[in-house]
Amino acid sequence: MKSAVYTKAGQVGLAEIDRPQIEAPDDAIIRIVRTCVCGSDLWSYRNPEIEEGHSNSGHEAIGIVEEVGEAVTTVKPGDFVIAPFTHGCGQCDACRAGYDGTCDRHIDTNWSGGVQAEYIRFHFANWALVKIPGQPSDYSEGMLKSLLTLADVMPTGYHAARVANVQKGDKVVVIGDGAVGQCAVIAAKMRGASQIVLMSRHEDRQQMALESGATAVVAERGEEGITKVREILGGGADVALECVGTEVAVEQALGVLHNGGRMGFVGVPHYNNRALGSTFAQNISVAGGAASVTTYDKQVLLKAVLDGDINPGRVFTSSYKLEDIDQAYKDMDERKTIKSMIVMD
Ligand SMILES: [Zn+2]
Ligand SMILES: [Zn+2]
Repeated sequence: MKSAVYTKAGQVGLAEIDRPQIEAPDDAIIRIVRTCVCGSDLWSYRNPEIEEGHSNSGHEAIGIVEEVGEAVTTVKPGDFVIAPFTHGCGQCDACRAGYDGTCDRHIDTNWSGGVQAEYIRFHFANWALVKIPGQPSDYSEGMLKSLLTLADVMPTGYHAARVANVQKGDKVVVIGDGAVGQCAVIAAKMRGASQIVLMSRHEDRQQMALESGATAVVAERGEEGITKVREILGGGADVALECVGTEVAVEQALGVLHNGGRMGFVGVPHYNNRALGSTFAQNISVAGGAASVTTYDKQVLLKAVLDGDINPGRVFTSSYKLEDIDQAYKDMDERKTIKSMIVMD
């Protein structure tokens, strides 16, 4: 079967590899129907030290179950499923508290990889997979796009809002206008925020967020951006959702909050020098980490998509065949598309 591999910095190709087999009782083999490129995949794509033939870091897909291990009772061959990037057990303290993105039992095995391929082996399938009613042919392309976001970006945006405890009436600022930031806007609206300000300099992304529930956009950055946000909100924000993962984005998020405000962060951190004590004087609550994909999908997000209450699939502004995966990465890296979807035959 075909699978995407990194060939050198800034280039992805296809390799012919063995089709995966069931290895553990809790495995499922899934035939991929739609997969995509994640902002986090671009870190591997750009890495000048990437070894040739390195497996892709893709981790978001929807597909059809082909085969299951003997311990899997929740899905059967032929079922249409969301393959979350996380693999919680559903039973440990973390999973029961709704933090299956960081399952206590699956410390080094909780994330997917290699999903930009024709087939995958999905480990810890019994609890973590999310069944979708019907078959792909029952859904429009737009609906398939929204279902695909439930493997990562929509639950990740939702996680930022949940850990920051966005509540009815809150004034929320979203830092980051990529797919996760767009989904954080949707999540803040779902949870009843009264005002949602997106910080973005790109007109198409501003427009998308305004259609999803943002009430204002701010293009300025730094001190200028903070001043503008405070003008719009008539003071500091209750909540800032940081969806980038850089120190500049964290500074921006902390800067827009009033004292006692809350920051939720879901951008994978590419900094390590932020001390816990730095928010003491402002009494700011900080929380974040990997999203609880399975929990949110099962509790609220799958229903919200199927009922047409939310349309996160609009973040996929371009589609490609697996053969064109290099272009899919390139267009995202050059910001020509917000998020690239791969349509399998
Ligand atoms: Zn992702
Ligand atoms: Zn667990």
